[in-house]
Amino acid sequence: MFRTRFAPSPTGPLHLGHAYSALLAFDMAQAAGGSFLLRIEDIDQSRARPEWEAQIYDDLHWLGIRWPEPVMRQSDRQPAYDAVLDQLWSRGLLYPCTCSRADIAAAASAPQEGAPLLGPDGMVYPGTCRESADRTGRRPAGTSLRLDMAMALEGIDRLHFTETGTRAGEITISAQHLITEVGDVVLARRDMGTSYHLSVVIDDAAQEITHVVRGEDLFEATAIHVLLQQLLDLPTAVYHHHRLIRDETGKRLAKRDDARAIRLYRDEGKSPDDIRVMVGL
Ligand code: GLU
Repeated sequence: MFRTRFAPSPTGPLHLGHAYSALLAFDMAQAAGGSFLLRIEDIDQSRARPEWEAQIYDDLHWLGIRWPEPVMRQSDRQPAYDAVLDQLWSRGLLYPCTCSRADIAAAASAPQEGAPLLGPDGMVYPGTCRESADRTGRRPAGTSLRLDMAMALEGIDRLHFTETGTRAGEITISAQHLITEVGDVVLARRDMGTSYHLSVVIDDAAQEITHVVRGEDLFEATAIHVLLQQLLDLPTAVYHHHRLIRDETGKRLAKRDDARAIRLYRDEGKSPDDIRVMVGL
């Protein structure tokens, strides 16, 4: 069985990079006689807009992509995220953290620490709150919760997943890599009550995704997802991280790159096949 998904955030227009990702996943599902699902990743309610969501449906339809209804929307899924956070909290694997980005930058670049280390989530957390935080009682609300990476990896030496994309092969990640180069990632953001990592893992499992197709900018984050799957007894999908679509200067396209919005190509009279050619499909 092959079941994949496209999981855009409705925080801006779909651009060529999104079109490539969605078309590739859709084509792979068709070729395998499997399913393609759509999931709206709208946990960041300060940035998600209904008009962007409507535009996503419209652009994907125009591209010839079809998916089963109803579409899963992460903003409906907080109870599922809370249940998992409660579980991780009661296992002592989470701790509250009150550090701001500036606090982390200051602590991480203290003279004895050298240059701040960058991980898949930005600066690797130097651990300021780890020892002093109170992990007893009920899970606190309204504060960020970090995963105690070293504790989460107790008894785990290595993690593995199968990759079929640009770095195809059996991928092994050492526990040491996760501890020193990824660190205590935030699993519940103060302002959201969840995080990309937590939600994506719970929802890929809930949607029974067997193949995750997404850009290679998320390759490093996959180690976090595989660890969470192991901690939560969830299956690990096959991952397919694809090349990124870049502009003529080699810079990868960002959501803000409105000049390349699919909508604008449509307005110029381009066809879905033109888009396929532009992204190399
Ligand atoms: N919402 C994420 C994004 O737009 C999706 C990441 C994923 O496919 O796991 O980048």
